[in-house]
Amino acid sequence: MSDIWIMRIGHRPERDKRVTTHVALSSRALGARGIYVDTEDPKLEENIRSVVERFGGDYTIKTGITWKQVIKDFKGKVVHLTMYGERVDEALPHIPKDEDIMIIVGAEKVPIEVYERADFNVSVGNQPHSEIAALAIFLDRFTEGKALYSDRDGGEIRVIPTVRGKRVVELSK
Ligand code: SAM
Repeated sequence: MSDIWIMRIGHRPERDKRVTTHVALSSRALGARGIYVDTEDPKLEENIRSVVERFGGDYTIKTGITWKQVIKDFKGKVVHLTMYGERVDEALPHIPKDEDIMIIVGAEKVPIEVYERADFNVSVGNQPHSEIAALAIFLDRFTEGKALYSDRDGGEIRVIPTVRGKRVVELSK
């Protein structure tokens, strides 16, 4: 599978800090390679990098970017998640797995140019909900569930799934 990137548009640092953090963490856990966020937010970058340091894997974050420029330079397919888009089950078979994809999610109203530029406007149900939910369902289906327990290189700790309690291995020990 090729690389999956996330583009977060309309991030307002004060208002959206928790949701954008969860967009990044959920996409990382579900197999994305990194996230671009349009508004500069050093605190958000620091939080996400500290999770990557502890839990490993290859996930990058860049904030304060111009979405149009990043998309222009991106070689791959652009998928915009929106409740107005085509059904996810109908879109998925047409989204290539041998090319990188950039998934755009909004915070507030998304500019019309995003709908026009996207190769795929995809809905995850036709009801308004959340960018975190939309991304999680889309990624889980796109990766066919394979990202959830995938191995990650580096980091300091590993969580071992267990029926009861918490099993955490410290890698340096
Ligand atoms: N009111 C905003 C608008 O008109 O674009 C939408 C805000 S919504 C809280 C934030 C983001 O969640 C959207 O930009 C979209 O990426 C995602 N989203 C919400 N519901 C969705 C759905 N049913 N399918 C796909 N994405 C959805």
